Parts: sequence; structure tokens; C-alpha cells
Amino acid sequence: MAGTQRYLAALGSNMRLPGVGGPRHVLDEAIRRIEDSGARVEKRSRTISSRPIGPSSRTYANGAAQIASPLDPPRFLALLQGIERDLGRTRRGAPWRARTIDLDIVLWGGGTWHSDRLIIPHPRFRERLFVLSPSAEIAPHWRDPDSNLTTRQLFARLTRSHPLPRCAPWSGP
Ligand code: AMP
Repeated sequence: MAGTQRYLAALGSNMRLPGVGGPRHVLDEAIRRIEDSGARVEKRSRTISSRPIGPSSRTYANGAAQIASPLDPPRFLALLQGIERDLGRTRRGAPWRARTIDLDIVLWGGGTWHSDRLIIPHPRFRERLFVLSPSAEIAPHWRDPDSNLTTRQLFARLTRSHPLPRCAPWSGP
């Protein structure tokens, strides 16, 4: 798979990282590391705050980025997982335990990808306001190849069923 690949990635953090700072600074650090890898961050959303899913009580900082990279999808996922590991996330314990950073591939310019370890579009992104809100901000016309709806349309569809917004501009540390 030659040439530049384009990705829409979702970022989330709900923990302070010693030496880095609060959740929004953890997102900044992840973006810096993605750029250091040789990828180009073409667009980045504002950072928003959203309520946690599951028993974790800490507010999340969330955002999205459009990234150009020479890496194919499995290698790009490995890059994101390496950054997650380096920033201290562990995969032990309950799935909803507080985690330092979560980096997901939401959409890929090449369309769909299905393997044991990687599914693009991300299987749950259509139900997640904290993914669709920043995605629609930076890539409103990017189409989900499965539903054929744009991120803006998916966002509108979801906000119609959730009249009270659960995301707000990040105002924490
Ligand atoms: P999570 O804990 O929700 O971040 O899920 C991580 C797991 O989901 C990893 O084992 C990945 O291999 C897998 N995965 C499947 N599709 C994706 C995707 N589009 N982006 C990130 N992780 C994915």
C-alpha cells in the first residue's frame, strides 16, 4: 500500500500524567508524539469535555485529528498503541478503568478495513457524541463508507436523539 494514507483519529483522556499535566495536556502530548513519528496532523479539533461511560467518575477530555501518514492501517494502529503504552495506559483490569489515553482510528481514506485486531470505521463511533462532535468539526464532509452518511449527518442524527448536549468545551486542567 504505497503513498500517503489519511486517517481520522479520536483521542480521549481522563487522567493526569505526571510530568505532562491534566487530560487536555495528555492529548497535546499524544498529538506531539504522532507528529514526531513522521505523520502530519492536518487538522485538529478543539478539546471538549464529556462525561465518562461506565463507573469511572473522571471527566474526559476528547478530541479528533485528521492525520496524513505513510503507514498502512495496521502499522498506524501499532503507532497509536505504542503511544498509548508509552503514555502509561495499561490493559489490565476492567475495561472501563480510568486510563491515561485512548487513541482510536475512526475513519480511513481507503474506506473499510476488517481484521482480527482492527476494524475501520471504528465499530462504535456512530453512537459516540464525544467522537462525532470533534470529527464533524474538522471533517464534516468525510463519509462513513458503511452508512454513506457524513460525520456531520451522523452527528446531527445523534444529537436529535440526545437533545441535551453531553459535550462541552473543555474547562478543566
Ligand atoms: P479500546 O480499549 O476500546 O481502545 O480497544 C482497543 C482494542 O480495539 C485493540 O485491541 C484494537 O486492536 C482494537 N481495535 C479494533 N478496531 C480499532 C480501531 N478502529 N481503532 C482502535 N482500536 C481498534
